[in-house]
Amino acid sequence: MPKQFRKAGELPPCAHCGQPARKTTGEEIYLNHPDLADRIMYACDPCKAYVGAHKTNGAALGRPANAELRKARQALHDRMFDPLWENAPETGGYTPEDEVARKRIQNAARARCYAFLGARMNLAPEHVHIAEFDVEQCREAWRLLKGVTYPQIRDWSKAHKRAADKGEAA
Ligand SMILES: [Zn+2]
Repeated sequence: MPKQFRKAGELPPCAHCGQPARKTTGEEIYLNHPDLADRIMYACDPCKAYVGAHKTNGAALGRPANAELRKARQALHDRMFDPLWENAPETGGYTPEDEVARKRIQNAARARCYAFLGARMNLAPEHVHIAEFDVEQCREAWRLLKGVTYPQIRDWSKAHKRAADKGEAA
């Protein structure tokens, strides 16, 4: 299930013009996908931007995006961010005994990857959400993650946690 940051009923601001989006449905957005007709969507008409919503409560999943930005977010997810955590079980000497263990490693890895990206981008954890990014943030995230491996992120995470624990003790 995707992380949820926006409240149900809130009209998210457009990622391009900042104006509150208009609530609509997939019937208007996905002309060729009748199966998505009932989905709640949020659109900004002047910017030709839209974003999907949480299936159960209809909360926006991010800020509406135009075609270019949707492509940039998708590329960041598919070609950079997701492979990092999805392939985590195959890195660094893990030997997951079953599918449940594999999923657990991936979930922990995903949380670390988001924390790492947020720290690098100077974003508070609640703002590290690719569906909220604009094109410039997608480019920045791409640059920051390029060449980074999951074991590096894991090491960063452990060092970060140690520093935080020390900070609390002091
Ligand atoms: Zn707009």
